[in-house]
Amino acid sequence: MLIRNLIKQATQVGNSENVIQYVKYLYQFEKFRNTLNLTLSIIKQTRLSFEIYQEGLVDMEEGVCKTIRSSGLNKYVIVLRRSNPYIIVHELSHMVENELNLSLEQEFLYKVYQDIEQNLKQSNILVQKIIGQIIFKEIQVYQTPKSRASELFARYFELFAWAQEVYPKDKEYLIRTQDLNRVFLATNQWKKSYLDLQIMERIDKEVKEYSDKTAFKDINKVQSSWTNKFSPGSKKIGSIFEDDN
Ligand SMILES: [Zn+2]
Repeated sequence: MLIRNLIKQATQVGNSENVIQYVKYLYQFEKFRNTLNLTLSIIKQTRLSFEIYQEGLVDMEEGVCKTIRSSGLNKYVIVLRRSNPYIIVHELSHMVENELNLSLEQEFLYKVYQDIEQNLKQSNILVQKIIGQIIFKEIQVYQTPKSRASELFARYFELFAWAQEVYPKDKEYLIRTQDLNRVFLATNQWKKSYLDLQIMERIDKEVKEYSDKTAFKDINKVQSSWTNKFSPGSKKIGSIFEDDN
């Protein structure tokens, strides 16, 4: 009930039902747990709200995280023009960066590039293509190293949220969590040993208790209930990759 109540309370515009379902779903996975714990904690302090709009408006960004800075604590408005798990994760990652005041252009960016350099060549062609597209092509439109690092940070989490085990529905190409993990070795380690600790210090007591009693699901053992619309009729989402695991 905690997630439902807090997301509902934070929704200033629109219907929160889908977002509640997606946040509850994502909460089971270790990758997103702390981002969501921080989100819930900040909602309790009435510093984060959602504006949820109907799909259909063209030529607009799918989501925005507006950060309202003041001399005290920041406030955040998460605007969703399309609601799905990976847009939610993306926008909340921007909140995490601003709330923790992370200097991502230093360590995080270095870890990502280290991973790309060392691990990408060994990964399969599709992973190379998708990561290459996201990390090298699309990021280049962001002007400063800081804005590039910020966008990369959000997309790192976003990638894991549209993996085939989590939410494969909108994507033409399926990417597996374990293939992402094989690339992002140093980045994942940085998340665990640095980012998670930073977040943990800021988690509200009630949220922490809720988190402690909510079990994790092994992402490699779940079957997403949101199937890929590009492969209708296939109940089990087969791997499109040819290697044996
Ligand atoms: Zn972004």
